[in-house]
Amino acid sequence: MRVVVVGGGVIGASSAWQLAVRGHDVTLLEQFGAGHDRGASHGSSRIYRHAYADDYYVALAARALTLWRDLEESTETELLELTGAVDHGDPSVVRPRIDALGRAGVEFEVLEPSAAQSRWGGIRFDTAVLYHPGAGRLHADRSVAASTQAALDRGAIVEYETPVREIRGSEVITDSRAYAADVVVVAAGAWTTKVAPLLRLPPLVTTQEQPAHFVPVQRGLEWPSFIHHPGAEFRGEGIYGLSSVDGVKIGEHATGPVVDPDTRNFVADPAGVDRLIEYARTWLPGVHADTADPLTCLYTSTPDSNFAIARSGNTVVAAGFSGHGFKFAPAIGELVADLVDG
Ligand SMILES: Cc1cc2nc3c(=O)[nH]c(=O)nc-3n(C[C@H](O)[C@H](O)[C@H](O)COP(=O)(O)OP(=O)(O)OC[C@H]3O[C@@H](n4cnc5c(N)ncnc54)[C@H](O)[C@@H]3O)c2cc1C
Repeated sequence: MRVVVVGGGVIGASSAWQLAVRGHDVTLLEQFGAGHDRGASHGSSRIYRHAYADDYYVALAARALTLWRDLEESTETELLELTGAVDHGDPSVVRPRIDALGRAGVEFEVLEPSAAQSRWGGIRFDTAVLYHPGAGRLHADRSVAASTQAALDRGAIVEYETPVREIRGSEVITDSRAYAADVVVVAAGAWTTKVAPLLRLPPLVTTQEQPAHFVPVQRGLEWPSFIHHPGAEFRGEGIYGLSSVDGVKIGEHATGPVVDPDTRNFVADPAGVDRLIEYARTWLPGVHADTADPLTCLYTSTPDSNFAIARSGNTVVAAGFSGHGFKFAPAIGELVADLVDG
């Protein structure tokens, strides 16, 4: 089948790869250049983890792991490093994650705060800690590049600087030509409703988020990926974090302003940066709190943070990844390919 994929972020690239693996005639069209920083998939790090309360996501993470490893092997690129991950904070939020990992047979431990403190000296803990060693971090830019390369290796065509202006029936219209498609895959992130305004989707809200990197106080300190759920002594917004080649990255989840992806300002809100600095000062003895270096990135969120992956006629859409889609990308590519195949 001729399949045109609109969007070359991690979801479009993974979909193109999985479709090409199945022998489809795939063309991926991306409006900007390779590795651009205007969407959701750029940068050096994303958390990979299994600790969801919902069994579906736990299983999806496991499937994605197999596919990330396949991708590493076929492209000879290191993408996913297992550093383990911790969840701490409100026990009523952590408990369902423990239960779900138990049901799935995923290895985990629950540690007292003092034991966690002596193991990971960069983080302060005041509640029991869920640790699962099979989690870690993905290199985001390398993952998008590798997925794209894997699609190319299987015969896909990838065209950059090629904005799709309209999807008209089985034709995908750009400035220079119309592409005929049996199925169109819309993986356009924050631009989904612009490129496919007629699709019936849950409301998608785009926000500009702003994590920041901090310089660690000591090289060689062990850093698991971490999620701090508000509760006990911690009264702020939920915080995620992980170490990366750019420093220790922390961010609030979905607190940024609503923006239009074409007119946003790429400027981090100083009040939000101050909250991250204050968090680092209180909870992360392993970083220099005065070294915050913010960046911006887009979330496209659904009302319940679940993903919108569906088929309508000859269009498949994969959108609304609500700030947590990266880790699952190759498994989502597989779901997209299933929908394309009917
Ligand atoms: C700060 C931040 C931290 C995150 N942390 C994590 C994490 O730790 N773990 C995790 O699992 N997830 C995380 N996420 C979420 C994850 O990164 C996203 O869910 C994922 O990158 C979404 O990818 P996407 O391909 O849907 O969107 P995008 O990467 O935005 O890709 C959409 C692409 O479509 C292109 N496009 C749009 N319209 C058109 C058009 N008309 N023609 C051609 N091309 C078009 C765009 O240019 C863009 O390249 C984070 C996100 C952010 C912003």
